[in-house]
Amino acid sequence: MENKGLLQSRELYQYLLETSVYPHELQPLKELRDVTASHPWATMATAPDAGQLIAMLLKLISAKKTIEIGVFTGYSLLLTALTIPDDGRIVAIDQNRDTYEIGLPIIRKAAVEHKIDFIESEALPVLDKLLEENLNHEAFDFAFVDADKLNYLKYHEKLLKLLKLGGIVVYDNTLWGGSVALPEESVAEEMKAGRHFTIEFNKLLAADTRVQICQVPLGDGITICKRLH
Ligand code: SAM
Ligand code: CA
Repeated sequence: MENKGLLQSRELYQYLLETSVYPHELQPLKELRDVTASHPWATMATAPDAGQLIAMLLKLISAKKTIEIGVFTGYSLLLTALTIPDDGRIVAIDQNRDTYEIGLPIIRKAAVEHKIDFIESEALPVLDKLLEENLNHEAFDFAFVDADKLNYLKYHEKLLKLLKLGGIVVYDNTLWGGSVALPEESVAEEMKAGRHFTIEFNKLLAADTRVQICQVPLGDGITICKRLH
């Protein structure tokens, strides 16, 4: 596996995967990873070590109702579906159903499709629609955001209304390939917009007193936020 993370060496990443991650990765997740590996956008998939952290968080808070923004072929979605209880529910949003369908046969085989409400759409209108119903306010235990960085702040505002007190939202790619700490002129052109939005997002999150945060240098950077108020 390619070292997608920010660790010092490929060998160290491989060590971590082989020692602590792969021995516990469930078979359907391995299968989904294999199916995704040949996709031209395979690097978008959540890495198994990041997945392990998400599963730990889900278990720690006994999450039942979750939101997933950015499904792709469904690695983090299947991981969530396998981790929450049988009567748990995931609102999974992606503007591209075709990529979701790549992983869907594996989700079906794992017998967890009944926990998933997949919505093919831009994420913001779906969150607005959820917020129109009072019963969705402060109703969700957990959210994982792994989509367009431009909208992360808007997602944050809406998710804080949807999350229970003590609920957790995890944002992916918050170190943007390490570019957040590099001077703009040294960053590849195609990384610049994402770098800009990520820097702004990190600054605002760090100043947001409604959440407790922890930014973990795992994968491409993951920020865990717990709703405090
Ligand atoms: N979490 C996924 C996994 O484990 O494989 C990876 C998600 S991938 C990095 C980002 C996904 O976000 C893509 O599938 C893309 O179609 C979706 N996306 C991007 N912008 C979006 C938006 N505004 N609304 C909904 N989905 C969006
Ligand atoms: Ca990601």
